[in-house]
Amino acid sequence: MAPHQTQWIGPVQARGVEEFTLAVLGSGSGNVVVPDDDSDAKVVLIERGSFGGTCINRGCIPTKMFSYTADLAVQIRRAPEFGLSATLDAVDWPTIRDRIVARVKQTSSSGHKNQGKSASVTLFDGRARFASPHELVIDGGTRIEAEQIVIATGGRPSIPPAVAHSEVEFCTSDTVMWLEALPASMVILGGGYVAVEFAHVFSSLGVKVHFVEMAATLLESLDAEISERNRSLPPLRRGPDPLRPKPQQPSTQDTRES
Ligand SMILES: Cc1cc2nc3c(=O)[nH]c(=O)nc-3n(C[C@H](O)[C@H](O)[C@H](O)COP(=O)(O)OP(=O)(O)OC[C@H]3O[C@@H](n4cnc5c(N)ncnc54)[C@H](O)[C@@H]3O)c2cc1C
Repeated sequence: MAPHQTQWIGPVQARGVEEFTLAVLGSGSGNVVVPDDDSDAKVVLIERGSFGGTCINRGCIPTKMFSYTADLAVQIRRAPEFGLSATLDAVDWPTIRDRIVARVKQTSSSGHKNQGKSASVTLFDGRARFASPHELVIDGGTRIEAEQIVIATGGRPSIPPAVAHSEVEFCTSDTVMWLEALPASMVILGGGYVAVEFAHVFSSLGVKVHFVEMAATLLESLDAEISERNRSLPPLRRGPDPLRPKPQQPSTQDTRES
């Protein structure tokens, strides 16, 4: 079945139906359409995963926290250029990661708690499926009806078949942030903003990063100025990496970063 087609499930055993004015599927941007408490609408918000969706749990927020850490690492390396004496002696990945995991969990659970306090909003933790145009079934049990239903179920990383069937272990943008340990090197498939941001994070922490990108340039879908700027970055932008063994013959190739 094509991914955009609605998958109808069979008739549901009537076990009492809860009725709502508005049902929202997904607590990412879906959370934004939930009306304020002073609205008369009876609203249900249904979330099958972590409250807050991609942005809070595995997108904008954690990547910006990793990027900030990466920026600090870059600044420490560049400190001598500014007459400051500093060296980056070690990267403690578990501490970096766990701090961000804790913050993300806290943000997600306080969002859940706050929304749960609302008198006019009912929260359901579970996966909703359509039973008919105005009926939803949550986790195959609870059945609800709503006059209006907003589908804000977001997207997911898509795995190219060549990778999926390769038997090579891989991460997606959903999982790479939670790696057990930093690898010595990684290959990033794709050159969009998510790829480039991860390249900045991991290369700044000492991982040798390679891109595989079919477009002529990184960030090709962004404005031409941004994409051009990225292409014209000098190869030695961040200088030698003290966490990598020094090459016998100094080579610009080994210190190239995104
Ligand atoms: C690594 C990364 C970095 C990013 N950085 C940025 C950034 O810096 N700035 C920016 O603007 N954007 C950024 N984005 C994009 C941004 O995160 C997404 O555009 C945005 O989160 C999409 O919101 P959404 O509501 O459409 O989907 P989501 O936030 O994914 O929300 C959908 C929710 O629906 C739930 N759901 C799915 N199916 C069901 C179901 N059947 N029943 C119940 N619940 C269901 C999911 O569990 C999920 O929580 C980034 C994305 C990634 C992956």
